[in-house]
Amino acid sequence: DAKQRGRNSFQFYTKDINSQTYRQLILENELVKALAREEFEIYYQPQVELDTGRVVGAEALLRWRHPEKGIQPPANFIAIAEETGLIEGLGLWVIQQVCEDLYRLGGDGNGQPRIAINLSARQFRQADLVDQYRTVIRETGIDPGKLELELTESTIMKDIDIAVGMFQQLHALGVRLAIDDFGTGYSSLNNLKHFPIDTLKIDRSFVRDIPGDNDDSAIVTAIVAMAKSLQLEVVAEGVESREQLEFLRRLGCEIVQGYYYSEPLPFDDFRKLLNGWTVEA
Ligand code: C2E
Ligand code: MG
Ligand code: MG
Ligand code: MG
Repeated sequence: DAKQRGRNSFQFYTKDINSQTYRQLILENELVKALAREEFEIYYQPQVELDTGRVVGAEALLRWRHPEKGIQPPANFIAIAEETGLIEGLGLWVIQQVCEDLYRLGGDGNGQPRIAINLSARQFRQADLVDQYRTVIRETGIDPGKLELELTESTIMKDIDIAVGMFQQLHALGVRLAIDDFGTGYSSLNNLKHFPIDTLKIDRSFVRDIPGDNDDSAIVTAIVAMAKSLQLEVVAEGVESREQLEFLRRLGCEIVQGYYYSEPLPFDDFRKLLNGWTVEA
């Protein structure tokens, strides 16, 4: 009967929650160890300038080399790192690693490329974030103009007033600022004009079905036009095909990133790419 079913489903529910909590505890514990054992690695996904075919930079994307499970993408661990606060230590490791890598690339004699780093919502609210960045930039001696910080539109929109202040402090460090996953966060132009932004990154979900899908094509066209009129650089994410690429080129989109050119690469492979060849654009 209903009562019986109710009880059973309740038991099932509790058990499910418990095993989920248990899995999260294990994961949290593993993440703490992973930081200490340096099991994290940064992959670099090239960003290509359409005019020239040059690799002008990359987005730094975090990976976890799990001792048993192999390479893990952020989807498998960033959320728990956010919830537990581990993201702050992890974020410090990321900025240090990226600055060291930038320094090494600069030593190759081809000039430093530009590297973009992702910041999560919790990092964005971190009281000592700006001090931390200032220190790492100073200690590694890199040009802060070669660093770009990516924040998603939804992170920014959660608390506009805090975000404006934070953007101004970060901008004062000399780093570039980008809005990631643009188009998904319902921000208005009126909000955006208060931010010292350098780059808009068009979310992959809009790029996926261009040029076939009329709505997405119209949205992408509008974003590129808006970015241009605001004198922002525009980067299209998730470009996988020649057709997408040609559509974006016709619109005047300057930079693309996606599997069409390259998946995220381990540092050594990215370095070879920078020093060896340009891709066909
Ligand atoms: P995101 O910043 O929007 O990064 C773009 C994601 O799209 C990356 O997934 C990238 O591998 C993937 N991607 C790039 N080109 C293509 C393509 O052509 N097709 C498809 N299907 N996917 C493509 P990834 O590396 O799994 O990262 C997922 C998210 O994790 C990132 O989204 C970012 O929000 C977050 N993340 C990555 N690294 C860090 C980090 O160091 N710190 C923080 N806080 N978050 C990070
Ligand atoms: Mg990003
Ligand atoms: Mg993105
Ligand atoms: Mg994303």
